[in-house]
Amino acid sequence: MTGLAERLADLASGAMLHNARVTGLSRHSPEFIRVELSAEAFRKATWVPGAKLQFRPRRGSMNLRTYTPVSWDAARGVTELIAYTHGDGPAAQWLGQAAEGQTCEVFGPRRSIDLRDATGPVLFVGDESSVALACALRTVNRDVSHVFEARDPAGLVDVLAQLGIAERVAVVATAADRAELLRQARDDAMQAPYTLVVTGDAATVHAVRRDTRGWERKPRQVKGKAYWAEGRTGLD
Ligand SMILES: Cc1cc2nc3c(=O)[nH]c(=O)nc-3n(C[C@H](O)[C@H](O)[C@H](O)COP(=O)(O)OP(=O)(O)OC[C@H]3O[C@@H](n4cnc5c(N)ncnc54)[C@H](O)[C@@H]3O)c2cc1C
Repeated sequence: MTGLAERLADLASGAMLHNARVTGLSRHSPEFIRVELSAEAFRKATWVPGAKLQFRPRRGSMNLRTYTPVSWDAARGVTELIAYTHGDGPAAQWLGQAAEGQTCEVFGPRRSIDLRDATGPVLFVGDESSVALACALRTVNRDVSHVFEARDPAGLVDVLAQLGIAERVAVVATAADRAELLRQARDDAMQAPYTLVVTGDAATVHAVRRDTRGWERKPRQVKGKAYWAEGRTGLD
């Protein structure tokens, strides 16, 4: 970006974004980081479990990165995110170096997946980027079977256990054909009418949606959203 374009991006962001401060930081593993953010604007916000919050990891650019609040305390103006920091994208870099007291600019919360009507049994399918959504779901529903794909299945099992997600959890290794993930999801599909929530890799979300058409026990509703896609950056 040119200097002028960078200044324009900063000006536009200043009008659009709110300032937030990192007030807590902990690691569940080298890649999973929990961040507590506080902002005056959070006191006035209405949080819907499953909503998204975006932040601007680099000044001089309008590029935002998207995360899922796991809780929202409007009285204190505090929310928490759980981020999987992979690679060296702007968000991964920012989160990898974040420290308490640091400020950032945020946009939201805004509507994404609305978990409020995910009542009754839920089949939750996701990956590392979906862990925060699984936590948000626990604030409204405990009748959930989880199927995750992960690059490091044992590592993810450990992180999920730290977050209290230890029962009805299957974690399979990420694989190009997704055969094991699809088999596990199909096996875990409930007899009773259930909601399917599927997020994470765009290709997986697509594959799971397509596969359900052949399932004997089909979901009564599907809440699906791609959280990232191979070769693309900053999906919203
Ligand atoms: C509505 C919504 C909610 C989300 N909530 C969360 C959340 O709570 N926690 C969370 O960790 N993520 C979440 N994500 C995903 C997160 O926004 C992306 O992973 C984002 O791309 C990270 O930004 P980055 O700057 O690190 O990498 P980018 O610059 O965006 O991407 C760099 C490279 O990494 C690849 N990549 C991106 N994400 C992944 C991944 N998860 N695994 C493997 N490769 C990847 C891209 O394809 C690209 O090649 C959410 C996304 C959406 C759309």
